[in-house]
Amino acid sequence: MNAAAWIVVRHWPAVAASALLAFLATYVALEFALRIYRATDPVAKRLWLAVGAVAMGSGLWATHFVGMSAAGYPFQAAYETGTTLASWGCGVLAAVAVLVAAARRDAGRVAWLAPALLGGVLAIVMHYVGTEALVVVPAVRYDPRFVAVASLVMLAGSVGTVALFRVLRDADGRSRTRLQVGTAALFGGSLAAMHYLGMASTGFAVDTVCLGRGLDVSVLGGTVGFAAFVFLATMLLMTTLERRADLRAKRLDGSLDRVREELRYVTFNDPVTGLPNRLVFQDRLKQAVARADRAGTSLAVVFVDLDDFKAVDHSWTDSHGEHTLRHVAAVLEDVVRASDSVANVGGDHFLLLMEKVDDGQIAGQVAERIATILRSSCSLASDAPRVTASIGVSVYPVDGSSSTLVGNASAAARAAHADGGNGYRFFEARMNAEAHAKAQWLDDLRRGVERGDFELHYQPKVHARSGRIAGAEALLRWRHPERGLVSPAVFIPLAEQYGLINAIGSWVIDEACRQMGAWRDAGTLHRIAINLSVHQLRRPDLADEIARALARHAIDPSYLVCEMTESDAMDDSVATLDRLERLRTVGVQLSIDDFGTGYSSLSYLRRMPVRQIKIDQSFIGDLERSDEDRSIVRAIIELAHALRLEVVAEGVETDAQRDILQALDCDKLQGYLFARSVPPDEFVRFVQSLASSGDAFMGSLLEAA
Ligand code: C2E
Ligand code: MG
Ligand code: MG
Repeated sequence: MNAAAWIVVRHWPAVAASALLAFLATYVALEFALRIYRATDPVAKRLWLAVGAVAMGSGLWATHFVGMSAAGYPFQAAYETGTTLASWGCGVLAAVAVLVAAARRDAGRVAWLAPALLGGVLAIVMHYVGTEALVVVPAVRYDPRFVAVASLVMLAGSVGTVALFRVLRDADGRSRTRLQVGTAALFGGSLAAMHYLGMASTGFAVDTVCLGRGLDVSVLGGTVGFAAFVFLATMLLMTTLERRADLRAKRLDGSLDRVREELRYVTFNDPVTGLPNRLVFQDRLKQAVARADRAGTSLAVVFVDLDDFKAVDHSWTDSHGEHTLRHVAAVLEDVVRASDSVANVGGDHFLLLMEKVDDGQIAGQVAERIATILRSSCSLASDAPRVTASIGVSVYPVDGSSSTLVGNASAAARAAHADGGNGYRFFEARMNAEAHAKAQWLDDLRRGVERGDFELHYQPKVHARSGRIAGAEALLRWRHPERGLVSPAVFIPLAEQYGLINAIGSWVIDEACRQMGAWRDAGTLHRIAINLSVHQLRRPDLADEIARALARHAIDPSYLVCEMTESDAMDDSVATLDRLERLRTVGVQLSIDDFGTGYSSLSYLRRMPVRQIKIDQSFIGDLERSDEDRSIVRAIIELAHALRLEVVAEGVETDAQRDILQALDCDKLQGYLFARSVPPDEFVRFVQSLASSGDAFMGSLLEAA
């Protein structure tokens, strides 16, 4: 046997190129492994595997041949084509095994260890088949120790690579890229180590003859190396672009998810308080009712309606109204248990759903606490809004089904409101009847407005001293088709609440002027007072409307008196003062009705362009018995006279009351003692009979005058 010549590395750039190729091939292969791992479609999985295996296998194979070209041979070295191709096949199969091991989802270690080892074995086989492609005589000699070490390095590299990859495949972003570089370096490094250890253990006899007639070693190394570089670089570019596109799609998906989330939010939440809305509440209620049925327990629905929130909302800025609603939402969420639900079902209406409440007493206690907290929170924190609530409670199953509980709780809240608000009521069956009756009234009233089923009745005001007629107050009556004459105390609040008051009020203005015109034409013009609602006072065109009605019937404006209640007129706003001023400019007289029931400020009263105040009848009724009432009436009269205002006493029913008022220097009197309110014809007859002096009590007045 001739002495062996061990292969010696001559071209170091080729070594570097081969190592780089090994790294690049593994790095690209890992990109494919990730896609195989993440693909859900089996066809896509197989496609990625095929492309990845060819890329990686070719890369490994090219590594080998570039590495082989780094050596110097003591003979003209060329490869035999068939064996060369076989080694390529081994490289691709090695890649298949490694990729399969890397992308396997099975938890068992054998499932990936076996193909990982197989991949290593096939890479070793590729190396030696590639070396054998030189086809030399005498045969190549290998140093078994080196072969063993080289093989062990390759196997360990293969297993380590797969193990590392199984960690990186679930990582994201930077850490994944770092892991991927490390993994590629491990596999590429072990491949290069295996190759050069293998090469170092490969020996040729000095008289070796190479029978390979196919491809020259350096030509193949260069060509394959270059081709593999281009191929792998293209693959890398492709996968990078794809990854970018994927990232962008994910980002887009993310913003789409956000939009979806926002849409979901506005669909199911109240925009001001952020609380769930009616949709969510109804759904939760249905589920809670089903749970209560199964467990045989009770649940309660609590309806919270803020008292006079519209006034709060209108008289302040938007943010004040919203601040109030958020404050109430926070109070409600604080009061209920974590398992209960709070919802906002529109504006100032809130709902609570409380499960397992036994007989509902707990719900009553909660309602009480809410009322107390809302009432007191305004005095505790200066920025907490001043607000009270009317609260209604309905309990399942006694008060209704899932479809009627909310309506019934709301009816109970209305009843609490009718009681003056700032409290709670449990639902009672009759409340629905009341609600129904109210709806019926409203329906009838609308029809009444359309048909003009109204009348003005007149109640005289008399001079306290002379007893002479000083004019009349026009009091509205509704002639209901079935119920007969209905008092304004019944239908005015309803008309104010449902926006009918302006239509009715306009009719009153015109009718009063028409009646004055008719009386004037008949020979006696009486001064008439009409009552104005706060809703009319808020209209900027009220003065114009009154002026037009006066002009239409050619009435001297000073003959019309406009009465407004103290609380309406004292709404201490610039706008109200401005409206009153405009009414005064028209020339009508202004009178403050029900004086003593509101909280007038003296300075404000001085600034107001009013002529008259009417002492409320609640001070007159007890005048004979109550020293206190007498003192109040005296004070009011003195105050009014100091401000040069005329004083009318309302609700005078007895001679004694009349005498006291006369003694206190009251200017005018009105009440059943003189006459009730009557239709216009009757009023005329009454005045005429008075003039012919047949009337007993008027007669006594005339004497006193
Ligand atoms: P008001 O303006 O204070 O009218 C006086 C009320 O006391 C009238 O009731 C009158 O009939 C009643 N009354 C008069 N004398 C006596 C008496 O000696 N004893 C007792 N117990 N009551 C007496 P009415 O007609 O039921 O009107 C109630 C309220 O309805 C009025 O109070 C007024 O605020 C309002 N109102 C009446 N007509 C109109 C109207 O055309 N428009 C508006 N917005 N409100 C009106
Ligand atoms: Mg009045
Ligand atoms: Mg009054």
